[in-house]
Amino acid sequence: MIATQTRAAGPVNTTASPRAIWKTLRAGAVTLVGGIWEKRQRVNRDHSLPHGHKMLEQAGNFEDLRIAAGLSDAQYRGPLYMDSDLYKWVEAACFEIARRPSDELAALVEGAVALIEAAQQDDGYLNSYYQVVAPERRWTEFDHGHELYCAGHLIQAAVAHRRATGSDRLLAVAIRFADHIDDRFGPGRGEAFCGHPEIEMALVELYRETRERRYLDLAGAFVDRRGYGWLGPAGRYNSSAYFQDRVPVRETTEVEGHAVRALYLAAGVADIYLETGEQVLLDSLGRQWHDMVTRKLYLTGGIGSRHLAEAFGKPYELPNELAYCETCAAIASIMWCWRMLQVTGESRFADLAERTLYNAVLSGISLDGELYFYVNPLADDGEPEHLHRGGPRRKPWHDCACCPPNVMRLFASLGHYTATRDDDGLQIHQYAAARIETELLSGTPVALRLDGAYPWDGAIRLTVEDADESTWTLSLRIPAWSSSTGPAEVKVNGQVVDATPGANGYLALQRLWRRGDLVELDLAMAPRLIEAHPWIESTRGCVALERGPLVYCIEQTDQSARVEDLAIDTSSPTTFMTRWQPDLLDGVHVVTLSGFEHDSSTWRDRLYRPLNQPYWGSRQPVEIAAIPYFAWANREPGAMRVWLPRA
Ligand SMILES: [Zn+2]
Repeated sequence: MIATQTRAAGPVNTTASPRAIWKTLRAGAVTLVGGIWEKRQRVNRDHSLPHGHKMLEQAGNFEDLRIAAGLSDAQYRGPLYMDSDLYKWVEAACFEIARRPSDELAALVEGAVALIEAAQQDDGYLNSYYQVVAPERRWTEFDHGHELYCAGHLIQAAVAHRRATGSDRLLAVAIRFADHIDDRFGPGRGEAFCGHPEIEMALVELYRETRERRYLDLAGAFVDRRGYGWLGPAGRYNSSAYFQDRVPVRETTEVEGHAVRALYLAAGVADIYLETGEQVLLDSLGRQWHDMVTRKLYLTGGIGSRHLAEAFGKPYELPNELAYCETCAAIASIMWCWRMLQVTGESRFADLAERTLYNAVLSGISLDGELYFYVNPLADDGEPEHLHRGGPRRKPWHDCACCPPNVMRLFASLGHYTATRDDDGLQIHQYAAARIETELLSGTPVALRLDGAYPWDGAIRLTVEDADESTWTLSLRIPAWSSSTGPAEVKVNGQVVDATPGANGYLALQRLWRRGDLVELDLAMAPRLIEAHPWIESTRGCVALERGPLVYCIEQTDQSARVEDLAIDTSSPTTFMTRWQPDLLDGVHVVTLSGFEHDSSTWRDRLYRPLNQPYWGSRQPVEIAAIPYFAWANREPGAMRVWLPRA
């Protein structure tokens, strides 16, 4: 028996969550209209989702489920978590159908749902690898088996399916599996949990969808059991930290181990806090977040610096060319930030989500929507062969295809992450051009149009399209990056108002809003040079360029000199030239600044020499052209750098 909960929600529904001071809007409340994000959503719909379906068919994800269902006698193919990529694709397609109906996508989704249904065992168990390849090892390999991880993705897909279509069909499959898991591993029944967190946030969302308390308690049990070395040290990574099993969650002081696992777990713990309000959990999350942003975060928002074990490094261990920065880890960071934002109402979480979205995530997919990075380095020599998993060239798919459908589900649901509401107000977190139509929790209806060419232009216009002449509060995030480019300017109906944000980073405009009211928010978009903490070895003596929320990089094809020979002139105030190039990289602002080309030919065959020579040899003034980091590797292969030496 499935309780009826609201169909109308996005990936996260905190409408009834006691500890969410700001709550999610219903699905469809935000329509992205024009601008960079609507373009990405269109590419996602027209290219990435159909391409992804084709790739899942080619790679064997569908076939593996057919074998499990007894519909095929082929051989199982791919890693043991193949089902999870298919589930993520279903989730993405459901968000897309909810955003804008599509008969083609709906047919593909229903085909997948029928197959998933057919593959499920009578006892509720569902995992094609363990059903087909290793039935005798079912529920024995919690370190690397990914059974609960795959179950988590099934649950998220099922919740998305129900919210998009109103059908209980896939949710019923997920519930049968969740009940099977609860029977085996629920509170008081064993010590198991998954080496790859994911099911925690899925179970909390299943609780939100069904109001069945057992699922929340099961998520809590999986969290409580971690930190006693049950999973490790064992296996190829030889570390309980890798699995977030070194320290109990409540005692954790830092982010460590596999970055995606660490942040999926953090998002799940934040979900549990949103429902239970256990302060110790929030304290732990606060410590972890502080550790991440002050010691382990790339300028792009990317995280997880080590190729070895896809892990967080030590503090300040942030290499550029060898950065791992898995696309999935950046997406996990956005998921975590989104929950922390709702817990705290503090802009720092929306600031980091913005930085991560525009840089570390957007770089992960090509402009045409069909090629994917697995790792997102901050420098590259342009050689096609890199360490592993694609390196500097995006690929149509990966053997480990976690990232592509993760990007798809985030982009299809992006509207969800732009705004929240409370009793008497609406909070705008991301300035995507959009139309927002919702009710405040008080019931007041609000319709708002957000216009502008953000992130290229700092002029943001919000027009009240509908209001019932009641007093409510419109809160606008004043981005942290703008503090260095000049104060934000705000006018309401042409009248200048004090734009100083509150301690939470939001400017709260409380008034009696009428249809036609206009708020003009202007953010100064001057390019700015950034320096890094001196303890980061890879960026010492370097600067990077940012404009608005975008991190810039230089790519070989735009330079007259070798990227390796370039340095930025910081001896006097740098002058920047910014020009809009509509035909370049789908339309970008190119920033040009003055620098030097060093003559490296004087080094001849030497790697080292005494310092009494001029440091670089002779140098020539040169113009350096920078493009947004997210757009690199969409043209011919060549070197790229985010951080450039200071001349
Ligand atoms: Zn991934």
